[in-house]
Amino acid sequence: MKLEVVRTSNLKAKPQDETKLGFGRLFTDYMFTMQFEQGKGWYDAKIRPFENFSLSPACSVLHYSQTIFEGLKAYHTEAGMNLFRPWDNFRRMNISAKRMCMPEVDEEFVLQSLDELLKIEKDWVPKTPGTSLYIRPTMMAVDPFLGVSAGKNYLFYIILSPVGAYYESGLEPVDIYVEDEYVRAVDGGTGFAKAGGNYAASLLAGEIAHKKGFAQVLWLDGKEKKYVQEVGSMNIFFKIRGELVTAPLAGSILPGITRDSVITLSRDVFGTPVREENIAIADVFEQNASGGLEEVFGTGTAAVISPVGGMTWKDKDIVVADGSMGELTRKLYNTLTGMQYGVVKDDFGWIKTL
Ligand SMILES: *Cc1c(COP(=O)(O)O)cnc(C)c1O
Repeated sequence: MKLEVVRTSNLKAKPQDETKLGFGRLFTDYMFTMQFEQGKGWYDAKIRPFENFSLSPACSVLHYSQTIFEGLKAYHTEAGMNLFRPWDNFRRMNISAKRMCMPEVDEEFVLQSLDELLKIEKDWVPKTPGTSLYIRPTMMAVDPFLGVSAGKNYLFYIILSPVGAYYESGLEPVDIYVEDEYVRAVDGGTGFAKAGGNYAASLLAGEIAHKKGFAQVLWLDGKEKKYVQEVGSMNIFFKIRGELVTAPLAGSILPGITRDSVITLSRDVFGTPVREENIAIADVFEQNASGGLEEVFGTGTAAVISPVGGMTWKDKDIVVADGSMGELTRKLYNTLTGMQYGVVKDDFGWIKTL
């Protein structure tokens, strides 16, 4: 497929103060879009000025949420910019697409198109430490049809947003709320897909936890509400008596790219064994009481590593390791962010330099 570039001379002013970027409010001058029609395949691939779409109010995505997305970042480096395992995002997007009955994309073509878009928008990658250019690929069904069935027409696009440092005042452990009423996903459901509806379904528990003063919700399994799944939109790890434990990829949790990187670094670089096994929240609390719970952290593209200092489950509160950050947590954070910003050598082939 040919990639057309539609230029504009009407460019926006770049943000003045990179310490005030926040997350996902500002967008760059251009976006990538392409369309799909059943029988015809993907067509009309373009890099074109960022602008509003025109959609029918009957558009199926607006009613039934047939939509998936991805999230990755471009990091400013001395040499230009780095991407972290971008091919894995488009591979995962195709897995999400299958689950949501949507067409797959040509991963190579989409990656090349993203490169082209980033080359045009390179001046939008912020340079202040900790900042980045957030990349949001999205796909949705756009048929103007109210019947509940898979769409025949889809829109795929990539937009770019300069974002601030996740940790403005350093890596701070947060308190999390173990949700024991609402669940995020069930076996056989859509938990492993980055599908829009999963996030709509998670909002209520998030709001309740925020009102109670917690940063994130820790989700338990949908059947017994016993085993730990994820924390907010991050995967979660517990370091217990010298070993890391995290939930297995059994269909209800999102297969995080940061999760996978943390497992590899822990095993191969830091010599910490990792078990991908179900762990009951009661066991986590018991290990804490007996002094075995050493570190707890979440992993995801946005925060990279988010240390957990305290947890509340039903009427029990615990403090993890005096509420301070663990050594492995810090080493993983420093190594991953170091690779992303091009100051730590990448021995794994994770970095793509543009
Ligand atoms: C995106 C996401 C993650 C983290 O995935 P990364 O690839 O590490 O960014 C974890 N859990 C959920 C629910 C997510 O949506």
